[in-house]
Amino acid sequence: MSATSAAYRGRFAPSPTGPLHFGSLVSALASWLDARAHDGAWLVRMEDIDGPRTVPGAAEDIFATLAAFGFHADEPPAWQSRCIDVYRAALDRLIASGHVYPCGCTRKEIADSQLHAHRRNTTLIYPGTCRDGLHGKPARAWRLRVPDDAPASAENPALIRFDDRWQGPQQQDLATEVGDFVLLRADGQWAYQLAVVVDDAAQGITHVVRGADLLDSTARQIWLQQCLGAPTSAYMHVPVVTNEDGEKLSKQTGAQALDASRPLEALTAGARHLGLDLHDPAPATLEAFQADAIDAWKRRLAQLHALA
Ligand code: GLU
Repeated sequence: MSATSAAYRGRFAPSPTGPLHFGSLVSALASWLDARAHDGAWLVRMEDIDGPRTVPGAAEDIFATLAAFGFHADEPPAWQSRCIDVYRAALDRLIASGHVYPCGCTRKEIADSQLHAHRRNTTLIYPGTCRDGLHGKPARAWRLRVPDDAPASAENPALIRFDDRWQGPQQQDLATEVGDFVLLRADGQWAYQLAVVVDDAAQGITHVVRGADLLDSTARQIWLQQCLGAPTSAYMHVPVVTNEDGEKLSKQTGAQALDASRPLEALTAGARHLGLDLHDPAPATLEAFQADAIDAWKRRLAQLHALA
């Protein structure tokens, strides 16, 4: 373990739904390179609270693969399944501060309410039915209130803006594009949005580097940080890896498990995906690759003006 700067704490947060594939390697590599380029700490958090999607043995397999690829965390790994009390405490604080409310609507009721209303892609925007009470229905889920849209002339409190270190300036109107969102699901599972925000705050994460498929969740996470009085992290969303059909690489879209016996090929391909210009495209050792890739990452950050 090397001396690291307390000013930078990054993380890689895989879900143990299967073995690591090339897409997840790119996220691990980008987060690791950014932490090392900042002399920061790099942590690993196993996001294992989605019971039905968790595959037995996948977490151990992921740890073994990370080690074979030369990624060593600076602290023992965190496990979301061991943090349930912390999620409950965060929800209790949000109940006390009036930021959340119980919701009794079924998915079908929400879908029906939107037949004539706007719909964003396939995401259902909750119409706010239970904001002022359950209307005699049993509580199923807990939702976080997002601010109401202000008139066009005034500053809009529902508009969340942030500068993504890779993708540039971003904004999302939570009122019209997202709606009040679920933190504790009807099936009793903690929602990803709550767990990720509470964990990043508890672990003191300052810099989040992950795949661009999560760009759309970031405004929600910033709003939740504000509701909890937690600091806002710096965000960087790197390009996702896609298959020939243009779909994000995942177990469902046919991603192959990484071959842990030949890490250098996949690592150099990952570096190419991130646009890194390595001095040696065929390094002989992990150490040689790492030193070259950290330098190349710093040059990439300078090109992106992303030295946060
Ligand atoms: N566990 C999430 C995933 O594997 C990543 C969460 C995050 O990095 O914020 O997609």
